[in-house]
Amino acid sequence: MSKTIMLAVAVWGLSLLHTGLAAEVELTLLQTTDIHCYLERSDNLPAGGGWLRLSTLIEAERQRAGPGRCLLIDCGDSIQGTLEATATESRVAVGLLKAMRYDVWVPGNHDLDFGIERLLAAAAALEPGLLCGNLRLHPQGLPAGAEPAAEPTAVPAVSFPAWRLFERGGARVAVIGMTASYLDNWFWGPVRDGFRARSAVEAIGEAMPEVIARTPDMIVLAIHQGWLPNDTRAVNEVLEITRRFPEIDLIFGGHTHQVHPGTRVGSRAWYVQAGFHADYLAVVEARIDTEAHRVVDIVSKLVPASNEIAADARVRAAVAGELEAAAAFGRQRVGELSAVLKAGGSPGEDCPSSELISAALAEATGARVVVHGKLSELDTFAGPVTEAELFRLVPYENAVGVLSLTEAQLRAVIEEQLRNRGSYVACGLWGVVAHVRAKGQVVRLEMPDGAPLPERFTVAFNSYSLAGGGGRFPVLKELAGDSWRENARGGDSRSMLRAYLRAHSPYEPQTRRWLVRE
Ligand SMILES: [Zn+2]
Repeated sequence: MSKTIMLAVAVWGLSLLHTGLAAEVELTLLQTTDIHCYLERSDNLPAGGGWLRLSTLIEAERQRAGPGRCLLIDCGDSIQGTLEATATESRVAVGLLKAMRYDVWVPGNHDLDFGIERLLAAAAALEPGLLCGNLRLHPQGLPAGAEPAAEPTAVPAVSFPAWRLFERGGARVAVIGMTASYLDNWFWGPVRDGFRARSAVEAIGEAMPEVIARTPDMIVLAIHQGWLPNDTRAVNEVLEITRRFPEIDLIFGGHTHQVHPGTRVGSRAWYVQAGFHADYLAVVEARIDTEAHRVVDIVSKLVPASNEIAADARVRAAVAGELEAAAAFGRQRVGELSAVLKAGGSPGEDCPSSELISAALAEATGARVVVHGKLSELDTFAGPVTEAELFRLVPYENAVGVLSLTEAQLRAVIEEQLRNRGSYVACGLWGVVAHVRAKGQVVRLEMPDGAPLPERFTVAFNSYSLAGGGGRFPVLKELAGDSWRENARGGDSRSMLRAYLRAHSPYEPQTRRWLVRE
């Protein structure tokens, strides 16, 4: 990370005419986002980073701001992403959110990964901190074909407040919370029955008249979406939000894993995003005129959780039991590799990691063909494979589904994957050989044993691909539809890999060329 970003301090508005008036109040607003339960390290800060160091920084900022002059907000993707999170099914992260006394938590897409019940448990533990105006949960699931309009009466639903008014130092700060509205393009499978997400623009439009009626001095939007000047898949609504709601003074963004110390977006909103994986704390200082009900001045910066910052011992102690349980789980032996499992290569061509995952999915589901990629860029050493290493191979909580496809449909799916070859989510092929042209057309399919092609192919995928891979695979999304009630297979892809390694140890890493270039 460049020094400019680490040290950047951004200033908005310099109308200093009001300086010194009795009606002016200074507040500190702190943000974290996309921490993904990184506790004591990060990807980008050598020997530093981690939520526990951020906690130390947060306490220091609270002290500096003085009692009752600070707001702490997290913008989601907090409770999933590390072995600690998975081993405790998010309990360690929820424990941290609670021990660190967050005022607001806005869930992100990955906060649904452990299922609706776990998100509800988090919501209950963090009461009343969870704000999210565009998400509704259905703990008992939705009946097949349920129309959105019929849902509220037909099915028990849980929704969350869209906003809350905080009084800090005599100022009234309205905080609105919204999650990603794009969830349908990431989830397929049992979890998909348990939620409905809608556009944040629509939900803010509903909430805004109530917010304005309370005459807040400052309006803050905390959202699990990011500001991207060129958002080709239209995943994020931040730009449109700034156009439609010029009342918003400050936006805390997330999801895109970008680093924004502070920038103006649209005509008024000041946009701040604290990076990802627990690198930075965003610190915003706002000067507020409580008579004119307006923000006079905003200054913001990102403070790195550098390695000189000590981890917060008090907060660590609050989750010590969970951390111990996670560490013990991580040491459990799953199987053995007879040689190093290289993460490199191209799925379906020369990638040992996707070859192994595909073989595991085929064995667990009985599918003849698997369309899957690699999920990690890290090698796994020869010798015993532990749960910690298994997690590194499959760091997501993906469900698995099997579709019955005609040859034409399978060709269309393969060609769509080839069009996305440059994306990190692109899948390879396993179980059938596809001869492909340089431009990505499938010339012909061939069974590996020379047998005739079956009339239909049973093809296994992970749930992320079946949901359309975040808008990248519309052909596959259309084929998968909402067929998860019939086509989802029990268990997630990591469990299938665990079972495979147990049954085939010592496993010898291998590759086979399923995609043959002509
Ligand atoms: Zn996200």
